[in-house]
Amino acid sequence: MTPPKHPQPLRHLVLVLGDQLDRKSAAFDDFDPALDLLWMCEAAEESTHVWSSQQRIVIFLAAMRHFAAALREEGLPLQYEALSAEGGAASLQAALALALQQHRPQAMVLVQPGDWRVQQALRAAVAEAGVALHEREDRHFLCSSAQFGSHARGRKQLRMEFFYREMRRRHHVLMEAGEQGKKDSATPSGGEWNYDADNRGAFGAKGPGFVPATPRFAPDAITQEVIALVQTRFASHPGSVNRFGWPVTRAQALRVLHSFISERLEHFGRWQDAMWPGEPWLYHAHIGSALNLKLLDPREVIQAAETAYRERGAPLAAVEGFIRQVLGWREYVRGIYWLKMPGYLELNALNAQQPLPAWYWTGRTDMHCLQDAINQTLEHGYAHHIQRLMVTGLYALLLGVEPRQVHGWYLSVYVDAVEWVELPNVLGMSQFADGGVMASKPYAATGKYIERMGGHCRTCRYRPAERVGERACPFTTLYWDFLSRHQAVLAKNPRMALQVKNLARVAPAELQAIGKRASAIRRGEVGAQA
Ligand code: FAD
Ligand code: SF4
Repeated sequence: MTPPKHPQPLRHLVLVLGDQLDRKSAAFDDFDPALDLLWMCEAAEESTHVWSSQQRIVIFLAAMRHFAAALREEGLPLQYEALSAEGGAASLQAALALALQQHRPQAMVLVQPGDWRVQQALRAAVAEAGVALHEREDRHFLCSSAQFGSHARGRKQLRMEFFYREMRRRHHVLMEAGEQGKKDSATPSGGEWNYDADNRGAFGAKGPGFVPATPRFAPDAITQEVIALVQTRFASHPGSVNRFGWPVTRAQALRVLHSFISERLEHFGRWQDAMWPGEPWLYHAHIGSALNLKLLDPREVIQAAETAYRERGAPLAAVEGFIRQVLGWREYVRGIYWLKMPGYLELNALNAQQPLPAWYWTGRTDMHCLQDAINQTLEHGYAHHIQRLMVTGLYALLLGVEPRQVHGWYLSVYVDAVEWVELPNVLGMSQFADGGVMASKPYAATGKYIERMGGHCRTCRYRPAERVGERACPFTTLYWDFLSRHQAVLAKNPRMALQVKNLARVAPAELQAIGKRASAIRRGEVGAQA
């Protein structure tokens, strides 16, 4: 790569991280090419601190290199530290320390990183160099950490629904003006805040039928170079990149967004929770990675969905359901992350100690739903929300896997995985390791839930309704075992009362048989592919 022209003496060294690829970010606010230098770095540690999948490494590096190329085309001074088959930066902290030593800037500018570990490492490098640090708010988000802190203050319990309503009012999204057009008496469009009850459809025996395809992008020269690098340097990492097609530029990300808004949004609400074998994409938006890399702005995403409702008559339940994910859940989990870190990472409310089964990394399980979810994850770096929550997440919860291991897996395998969003979803929502900060009860269910939401059970060797015996579905056995192991804690949760009451109806001999089979599952005697 051409050596950058370094302004001398340097006023600001301006860091752009791999998940901050937004030309409008605060990093660029007062950027002066005559005085400042941009700095980007591919550090090996970012792909190895968890065993990152090849898909995830490629998307980050390819998006970074495309963003860097656009900055150079604009003529902005940029120092880009690239990884090579053997060389390159070991860690961000070490590389930054070297850059600070080399340039001796008056100040270092950066936008708040998306993960606590990186923030601490960068702060340490800057402090060590004795350079002033200007850490700026990440304007990508609609709710700052301080605003979320105010929302949380004084509340005994945090619940997404109340936060979401506050966000709808504050940003006037899907709201109708009240009396004489007054914003403060505005009401939610359609009269209800939430149409979740309409968002739980299942496909039935015939499956989804026609699903409009999401644009995929053949790797260009830059991405091909990254793919070759990853296949050499990270050859032992999970998954494959043979069919890599994710958006790695803003223009590509916009195409994915527009295809979703015009072709799939209207079906999103109804089929949001549905699954089907061999159908990885369904009616979801597939924009998580583009949003988290900051190639898309959540405001434009929300606005595009609201416009589809107001101008094209897209169904309100679908539009509200989608906006709730982006304006509600996405902002809420970020708020929880920064409110609770670093302690959040250590939480293990249910004292789960089981190791993660090895087949999570290969898909070699005989449980059809898990096999399908894991195989598509390894092939594409993607699974939709219900697969993450109610298949891979549910199994780890019921088995009692140590939450940090579950976290390590999710952070490794998804193209949209960045810790601020992955951790609360995994530790809080799916593993209940935070004891109820994120979710009011554990998402515990039997195999019958998976049977209802998709077609996997029909071709599985197990039977979702059976809880004991050779053919018993491991989810179902483990569900009753989970209730039994945690009944003292769960009985105190009013939302679990019915489930715990049902446990009392199971005969002691059957409960013993459930416990025995659950132990066999835990020992790995059931579930792994022969
Ligand atoms: P869609 O279903 O089309 O939803 C649209 C957008 O809404 C998503 O792109 C995302 O930005 C946002 N969204 C939806 N649900 C959530 C949520 N619960 N939290 C935050 N944003 C949400 N999302 C990530 O971005 N990164 C992760 O690493 C991640 N890990 C998860 C782990 C578990 C165990 C669970 C249960 C959920 C996780 N999610 C994560 C949330 C959600 O599953 C993904 O955002 C979604 O599947 C991405 O695919 P999509 O773009 O097709 O989403
Ligand atoms: Fe999954 Fe159980 Fe259904 Fe098999 S029977 S697909 S393991 S839920």
